[in-house]
Amino acid sequence: AIEIRGLRKSFGDVEVLRGIDFTVAAGEVVCVVGPSGSGKSTLLRCVNLLEEPTGGTVTVGGVDMSDPDIDLDAMRRRIGMVFQQFNLFPHLSVLENLTIAQRRVLGRDREKAGRIARENLVKVGLADREDSFPSQLSGGQQQRVAIARALSMGPGLMLFDEPTSALDPELVGDVLGVMRTLADEGMTMMVVTHEMGFARDVADRVVFMDDGRVVEEGTPQEVLTRPEHPRTKAFLARVL
Ligand code: ATP
Ligand code: MG
Repeated sequence: AIEIRGLRKSFGDVEVLRGIDFTVAAGEVVCVVGPSGSGKSTLLRCVNLLEEPTGGTVTVGGVDMSDPDIDLDAMRRRIGMVFQQFNLFPHLSVLENLTIAQRRVLGRDREKAGRIARENLVKVGLADREDSFPSQLSGGQQQRVAIARALSMGPGLMLFDEPTSALDPELVGDVLGVMRTLADEGMTMMVVTHEMGFARDVADRVVFMDDGRVVEEGTPQEVLTRPEHPRTKAFLARVL
């Protein structure tokens, strides 16, 4: 679970998060939507302290992420992250992309890492591509490899930052399908997305951000179908 209280983040003089309260309960899927520059990625990156908050608290699984006494690397290992850009290692095969961090970071042996990698390749529908290199795969396949790689580390929760935004439209569905399966399996997920259909069908809650604040949140029905705030209405009128 993620619990964020009064989160603030400034870059220089510019405050891009202006007091955010935000939670994701265990097993919950929360989609974050909002206009470009509203602070969605910054919020996501504050969860694993890729960005250091300038105020407020972030707790993950009950652990205060800014407590200097915690093992931050160990906490980050429990948080899977998938970005718009897939960031696969181009010189490594699909299987090696999935095993390298398991072996180097978690100390798993080749056999165990390979077994877990193959389980996750099955899950993302790429069991037959373990010997391929990233350049031999479509963008959608590469993104599914990136998801399988994150899952191979055994994360307790997954953060997604516009995982389908760089994909050709016909490749988006496969990636969203994998994310939907993960959600059905009970994975705790925070998903920044412009895919309103996914948010409507899969999210337990939708959070609308604008200008560094949470403007409105609720069920997909509440936020996407019957938005109350004029800024939510204006945003949805543009994207739907
Ligand atoms: P998008 O939908 O375009 O991805 P976003 O909602 O994810 O937008 P952020 O990337 O979180 O928005 O950015 C919020 C604001 O913070 C923007 O004005 C951005 O320019 C600014 N910002 C983000 N990262 C930095 C940084 N490292 N240094 C300075 N400003 C930054
Ligand atoms: Mg962003």
